[in-house]
Amino acid sequence: MDAEVVSVVVAGLGVSGLAAARALARRGERVIVLEGNDGERQRAAAAELAPLGVEVRFGEPELPEGASLVVTSPGWRPDHPLLAAAAAAGIEVIGEVELAWRLRGDGAAPWLALTGTNGKTTAVRMLTSMLTAAGLKALAVGNVGVPIVEAVREPYDVLAVELSSFQLHWSSGIAPLAAAVLNVAPDHIDWHGSLEEYAAAKAKIFRNAPTVIYNADDERCARLAEPYRAAGRRVVGFTLGAPRPGQLGVVEDLLVDRAFVPDPRHTAEELATLADVRPLAPHNVANALAAAALARAHGVPTGAVRRGLAEFVPDPHRIAHVARIGDVDYVDDSKATNPHAAAASLSAFRSVVWIAGGQLKGADVDDLVRQAAGRLRGVVLLGADRARIREALERHAPHIPVVEVPGQDTGVMDRVVTEAAKLAAPGDTVLLAPAAASYDMFAGYAARGDAFAEAVRRLAKR
Ligand code: ADP
Repeated sequence: MDAEVVSVVVAGLGVSGLAAARALARRGERVIVLEGNDGERQRAAAAELAPLGVEVRFGEPELPEGASLVVTSPGWRPDHPLLAAAAAAGIEVIGEVELAWRLRGDGAAPWLALTGTNGKTTAVRMLTSMLTAAGLKALAVGNVGVPIVEAVREPYDVLAVELSSFQLHWSSGIAPLAAAVLNVAPDHIDWHGSLEEYAAAKAKIFRNAPTVIYNADDERCARLAEPYRAAGRRVVGFTLGAPRPGQLGVVEDLLVDRAFVPDPRHTAEELATLADVRPLAPHNVANALAAAALARAHGVPTGAVRRGLAEFVPDPHRIAHVARIGDVDYVDDSKATNPHAAAASLSAFRSVVWIAGGQLKGADVDDLVRQAAGRLRGVVLLGADRARIREALERHAPHIPVVEVPGQDTGVMDRVVTEAAKLAAPGDTVLLAPAAASYDMFAGYAARGDAFAEAVRRLAKR
């Protein structure tokens, strides 16, 4: 931290804001936290910070005199008046991730970092599992698990860092040992302003990384990695097809490495089998390859990659099998909160009754509906933007039966599941993959998935 920093402003008292304020105060910085919402949780956080000498100011945030650095929460948009005022005054604005990088100290654990529109949490947990299988003391941090600023001074061998586009927007100096981008598809456009800005934020993960890892099957992603070849970095692609030299990929039922091997032109090393990847879906094989590439960049042997994958336990609400009722499978992928995720999810099943809808966050669903049309037995729609999905279905798949379930009450999910069961034929999968956020009706994707699972269990008892 620069010596002339006399007062650091922390914008927002969420999980990362609290952690940032704590870390700064412990280092003797004078910290002021600004928070608009004085709810119970925020008051409790303020009480926790008070003994550390941190002042929390509630109400409309205003830039205090003398601030020389603003540490912002990822939820605050760049055009927030306070951040705009800081920028106009020439005050540096960073996020908690950048702060963690600056505070990490000598001899700190290296970072293996990844980002992407979808699959981040899954891939970072696969990576942690591989690192642990290699006997390393590793932790998943960042956009998942504990705030990174709390982990950087702990005695880990290596950190598996999940970064969101928001966090990357506010980071400029981070230099992970290796960095991966899983995929890039439209999401959070309202926050970033455009798809180009969103992709540019994601690309910042590569900026100072000696090893750059990208999804060779994703054109937008490949474009982000391209400039680094000329810059002399190690650039490693991963693909669901056969890998070229310098790539990781799939040959028959094997995941193979043709990058981190002694002679990539002539040798390939077996990493794992497809059966080691759970749930087994194409997008999840891509997650496993990205995690493996990051692990291999840190020298993890192939045996540990395989053990790590085999021991990996998927997080809830990500293609989670709920029940089989009358030869129909019910699957909860409530975490599919954007069209790109829902498309990946749908492509993992042959004949689907698709449950979708919620808040589309300005996203377009035409491509998704076009891609999925061939697999759809029927569709049940709920939530705020359901009409937009119905219209896309009318345009691209007019023959497919669609049932809309209006309303916001707690009974909606029961009606949704009942309608889905009516549409399903033996051998089908009823899949909750909403392509939309849940906040119009639920506290979050987990609550939406739980409501679905409970409704399915009630159906099973009928
Ligand atoms: P994130 O942390 O990026 O939100 P998750 O691992 O939690 O990602 O997965 C979120 C959802 O995205 C999953 O439920 C699945 O529908 C979808 N998904 C996961 N991995 C991928 C991928 N590699 N490509 C496309 N969609 C994916």
